[in-house]
This record gives sequence, structure tokens and C-alpha cells, in this order.
Amino acid sequence: MSKFAEPMTRLIDELKKLPGIGSKTAQRLAFHILRSSDEDAEALAVSVREVKANLRLCSICNNITDVDPCVYCSSPTRNQRQVCVVEEPTNIAAIEKTKHFNGGYHVLRGGSDSGLPGATVETSRAQDHADCHGHSCGQRYRVRR
Ligand SMILES: [Zn+2]
Repeated sequence: MSKFAEPMTRLIDELKKLPGIGSKTAQRLAFHILRSSDEDAEALAVSVREVKANLRLCSICNNITDVDPCVYCSSPTRNQRQVCVVEEPTNIAAIEKTKHFNGGYHVLRGGSDSGLPGATVETSRAQDHADCHGHSCGQRYRVRR
């Protein structure tokens, strides 16, 4: 028999599935959620649902986005001929924070294992990237053909 009520045990079990969250942290988070306002708890639940319902991969750069093409690929003020190849979507935020790059991106691991819509679609930049092996891929930035 669990030491917590069934809904609490279920929440703790779900939180334990998150990376880096062990039993103690899951319990601490579950009790935090229990003590939080109804509005905060609902906002958390809604944001989890919306991430799964509304996000997909950009068909151009493989970034995780709610609009396709993503804001970086559809921006008229960005230099789309200059492409920064990054490993993960989270790398884009780090580069954007520097405010030193105003081109497009190509995400190598945008989420082929994410289950997101578009995850099985080969992007146009993925093909560009495949074509340029042996040429300029080793460089941080490369010029798009
Ligand atoms: Zn994009």
C-alpha cells in the first residue's frame, strides 16, 4: 500500500519519469503543486498539454516550433543565406542570447525521436547538410546554396 493517496502517488510517478528527477525531488515537486493555487496548477497542466498538442518541427530547419516555418526561417530581416548548424533546439536560444547571429539555423537533432509532427519529414536544410559533407560542415557557419 502506498504511503500517499492514489492521485498523489500518480503525480509522483509521472514526475519521476522526467530526466534528473528522483523519488525525493518528485515528492517535493508534487507537494509543491498540491500547495500551489488552483490557477498555477491548472496553468502547469495546460502548458504540458499545449506542448504536446501545438508543437511540431519546422519543415525548413528542424527547430521545434508552433508555426511552420518557424520564426527564424520566416523572418524577413534575417539573412537566410547564412545558416548556423546546431545540435539541439536549445542551442538556438544560447546563440540568440548573444545577439551576434542573424541568419537561419539547421538543427541536427530537432526531435527525430520526439514524436512531434514532422519528425519523420526530411527537411530541405537536412538535405543541404547531407550534400555538404566533406565541404564546409565543420565550420560553425556555412553559406546556404
Ligand atoms: Zn525553421
